[in-house]
Amino acid sequence: MLLYLRCFIPFVALLLATDVAVAAHPAQTEHCPPLEANDPQQRASLMDHVCYLSATPGEPAHSASNPAELSADSLWKAANGHDLVFSHTNAVYWVRLNVRNSGATRQLWYLKLNYPLLDEVTFWQAGEDVTEAIATGDQYPFMSRGIDYRYFLLPVTLGGNENTTITIRIQSSGALNVPLSLETPAATIAQSNHLTLVHGLFYGALLVFSAFNLLLFFSSGTAYYFYNAFYMASLGLFLFAMGGFANQYFWPDSTGFANTSNPMLMSISSLAMTLFGRSFLEVHPHSRADRVLKGLALVSLALLAFAFMLPYNKSIVLSTTVALMIIASLFVIGLVRWRQGYLPAKWYVMAWSGMLAGALIYSLAAFGYLADFLAREIFMQVAVGAQVILLNYAMVQRWRLLNQKLLDVEQNARTNLELKVHERTAQLRNTMRELERANRQLATLSLNDALTGLHNRRHLDNLLPELCAESRRSGLPLTIALLDADHFKAVNDDWGHDFGDQCLQHMADILRRHVKRPRDVAIRFGGEEFAILLPGTGSDGACRLCEQILEDLAGSRITTGSGESVILTMSAGVATLATGEDERELFRRADDALYRAKAAGRNRAEQSEPEPS
Ligand code: GH3
Ligand code: MG
Ligand code: MG
Repeated sequence: MLLYLRCFIPFVALLLATDVAVAAHPAQTEHCPPLEANDPQQRASLMDHVCYLSATPGEPAHSASNPAELSADSLWKAANGHDLVFSHTNAVYWVRLNVRNSGATRQLWYLKLNYPLLDEVTFWQAGEDVTEAIATGDQYPFMSRGIDYRYFLLPVTLGGNENTTITIRIQSSGALNVPLSLETPAATIAQSNHLTLVHGLFYGALLVFSAFNLLLFFSSGTAYYFYNAFYMASLGLFLFAMGGFANQYFWPDSTGFANTSNPMLMSISSLAMTLFGRSFLEVHPHSRADRVLKGLALVSLALLAFAFMLPYNKSIVLSTTVALMIIASLFVIGLVRWRQGYLPAKWYVMAWSGMLAGALIYSLAAFGYLADFLAREIFMQVAVGAQVILLNYAMVQRWRLLNQKLLDVEQNARTNLELKVHERTAQLRNTMRELERANRQLATLSLNDALTGLHNRRHLDNLLPELCAESRRSGLPLTIALLDADHFKAVNDDWGHDFGDQCLQHMADILRRHVKRPRDVAIRFGGEEFAILLPGTGSDGACRLCEQILEDLAGSRITTGSGESVILTMSAGVATLATGEDERELFRRADDALYRAKAAGRNRAEQSEPEPS
């Protein structure tokens, strides 16, 4: 902030200094040759024919109210081709031009004063006919100009070989520029038409952009659209007023407001650009940039109030200074944001460079430090137009960036979701697999005997009816052998239950060794009772298998914990499925055969003959 003040104080001092003519002072001479109105070349170099007189307060020419009151020895100076450009001054300027119609016919020309913002301008014409004085300027209602045109137009009608002396008295509290030209009505109309088109396009475009941004704001609720609309509307209105249009169209009869409106609209524009810049650049809240912009916004508001309180020449200087400070600050903040990697700031800075140059030139011209050419106004409009287009482009960029961010977020969210779904699906699949395994285990457990690992009673109950049906279908034999340990109670009684279990496992091992065919099944279906299902095997084959098992068991010894070796035996009953028989009968016959084996002395296999049906 201090740095700004250090830069701007000399500038303000310069602006506040009054009566500084920047245009080269013409030499002191009374050489003001009459202008041949018919000669286009002479019309083009009108300033070679103009003389002027400046009178500061106290001098007689300052208080003189018409040319007749000017003393004959007044020190008129020739403009010598230079534009009459003065910064803020409280002096009164008298300007004189002698015009001659060297042609034979009566003709009309327009003397045009191409600067609309002058407080008081009075024209006198003294030729063959002395016309009435025209007193006009901002301090008079707009229609006092006689012609409804934003610049001052004085009709100059001269008969053949007639001379006239035009005297103009100008007093203004703002910058005082007197850009004069003498034009034919055709040229005046043509130029007016061209300018109307240019201004219409310029202000029309600003209006459309502004309205469009306002609509965007209403539909999206995004603040910076509103600030952009506000900024363009206020800037447009300010330029409209500075161009003299506001006096012509908005407040043609409010003589007091004509001057006040300039600092007022400038302060509003300052406020708008601060708010827009702060919002567009997404300045971090509570950062130094944010504090500077908030401060400047408050100063703009204060200046808005001052516009109605301070004299015009003071308030316009203050508001211009603050506007320049704001433009410079926003430029610097834009650069900083750009460096911080905020992409839309690049476009903002580019747009703002035009604004910086335009504003500087405009204020220098407005304060009378640059000749007031029409080109200056056009340049300002080009700068503002380019800036508006770039800013709107920057907004599109900003929107695109935001959209991209949203898309990225959405994409990330979707990817995350997909990952999670994959993860969950994989987890679910694993769980299902584990469940299946557990189920299989459970099924195995439920069909197997825990002690021996052979199938259990349930499996026998499931399998036997199936095998019976299959045998009936295929005609292949199905044989069941029931094996029961002999005197097993005694084993338990003598060597304990644990040893008994060990013996049961031993018997199961022997069964497993002998039951080798893929479809043969060994089952422990009771305490010391086993069954062998032999699909495709006949009774004799089954008996042989049982005898091999009994032999193997009887030939093997089991050692007890106390070191004794024990020999175990089993008895077996064999039955083959007979025609028309069901599983229960088959089982019963095998059991009967087993009973017979037991009865016949044990450690043997008995075969069941099918009962005669
Ligand atoms: P036999 O069949 O030769 O007529 O005589 P046995 O002693 O084997 O007759 P019984 O069927 O009466 O006895 C069966 C015995 O088997 C009874 C029980 O102590 C024993 N036993 C049954 N299940 C188990 C078991 O799971 N573990 C152990 N250690 N012994 C069992
Ligand atoms: Mg038994
Ligand atoms: Mg037994």
